[in-house]
Amino acid sequence: MPFDLVTNRHDLLIDGKCIPAASGRYFDTIDPATERVIASVAEADAEDVDAAVRSARAAFDGDWGRLRPSERGALLLKLADLIRRDQDELVNLESLDSGKPVSAIRRQDLPAVLDTLSYYAGLADKINGQVIPTRADALTYTVREPLGVVGAIVPWNFPLMIGMWKIAPALACGCTVVLKPAEITPLTALKIGELALEAGFPPGVLNVVPGFGKTAGVALVEHPDVDKVTFTGSPAVGRQILRGAAGNLKRVTLELGGKSANIIFPDADIEAAVKAAAAGIFFNSGQVCSAGSRILVHDSIYDEVVERLAARAQAIRVGDPRDPATGMGPLVSDVQMKRVLGYIDIGVGEGASIVTGGGRRSETGYFVSPTVFAGVEHDMRISQEEIFGPVAAVIRFKDDEDALSIANGTVYSLAAGVWSRDMARVHRFARRLKAGTVWVNTFGPTDIRLPWGGARDSGFGREHGDAAIENFTEAKSVWINTGS
Ligand code: NAD
Repeated sequence: MPFDLVTNRHDLLIDGKCIPAASGRYFDTIDPATERVIASVAEADAEDVDAAVRSARAAFDGDWGRLRPSERGALLLKLADLIRRDQDELVNLESLDSGKPVSAIRRQDLPAVLDTLSYYAGLADKINGQVIPTRADALTYTVREPLGVVGAIVPWNFPLMIGMWKIAPALACGCTVVLKPAEITPLTALKIGELALEAGFPPGVLNVVPGFGKTAGVALVEHPDVDKVTFTGSPAVGRQILRGAAGNLKRVTLELGGKSANIIFPDADIEAAVKAAAAGIFFNSGQVCSAGSRILVHDSIYDEVVERLAARAQAIRVGDPRDPATGMGPLVSDVQMKRVLGYIDIGVGEGASIVTGGGRRSETGYFVSPTVFAGVEHDMRISQEEIFGPVAAVIRFKDDEDALSIANGTVYSLAAGVWSRDMARVHRFARRLKAGTVWVNTFGPTDIRLPWGGARDSGFGREHGDAAIENFTEAKSVWINTGS
């Protein structure tokens, strides 16, 4: 049955069935472009999370655990086929729920979801152990075993894509999953859960429990039968998750925030650098963990870059996310809009100057104009704290050491960019920038084959590539006494 927005009511997905929450409660999800309620969604709490974990455990111990790895891969490919079939519906749902422009979802999120599925489908039967020679009288080897039940907690900025970054490798490895989407954007996760059932994943392998962080999220993190929590979200919640996971010593992966520096030297291709810098901060309305929210510009080209960046900001077509020509949609929620507007006030109060933008765009919808701040000092709050909105802080630097010290001078270490034609300099910066990813003469691309993650307040652990296989499996050593 097609996922029916018209019914406007969506239940939890537990043990292969759509069921209301035990409490009977529903919560509204809102279109941030119109502020209208688009659907009401069953609100999971601890009792529902417990049912989902029990189902995931039974699936892990049952049918799912008996499948061949290649069969798991085939199911992931089948899921990709169904996503392709229903892509229009998924794109619309994601846009309605999050305010993302449909053009961006089609260009970026959807292809990334499909790529992630096919990549991990291919890896499912290549998760090898090793034969490790130890002694003449023994055969000693390792096998990589799935960890068990995974709690996946996802933010609202890329619900489909970040959800799949967790689901696909976990399932490829043979784990089962309880997915808690962000309460602001639960719709595509439920649709993916239904498609997984249609693809033939056994009931309980992928459960979806929309709900709030303080109830459903905490229950999942603290559940004694969850083996691993993979979390993407804010550093504050990341810290709570670490504490909550201590009870049964769950493994934890944390992908958290950022305040990434994008450093532009005078010897760079300035036009390309400014174009990428604008995309780096305004894409997805700046709601990107690796947004290039600090643009560090050499003194000699500072005024020129500020001017060009402002022109690019003004040229962005902000508006209806369903219009294919729209370049930037609203922020995801009223709370997020107020937070961003609050930071704009803070920046003005700190003495930075607004070159363009700086306010709400319309009475209805959570639209904020692309904003460029010049005259930003390194120690200002708008330079140190993650705003998670379309607000660029342009900071002046005088030389290489100055640029490095500013770039490395926040609590985050997620990503950084450097623009220069001097190869010695770019290698030096690639080495010395404190970041999980360094982009050179580009800004922002990610690929499922390349490890992704940060350090310090940006979290720990790596997603993507082989690294994700290690996140969801553990080596077992086998020692067979063969006699000599
Ligand atoms: P958030 O931390 O508020 O929420 C993320 C998820 O955690 C949601 O599903 C929420 O319901 C849940 N949650 C909230 N409190 C919880 C608790 N106590 N226990 C368990 N779960 C809880 O983050 P957000 O506002 O949705 O997302 C924005 C943040 O995510 C930003 O800081 C951003 O930088 C970060 N982010 C990081 C990456 C990355 O790859 N590093 C990617 C995207 C977003």
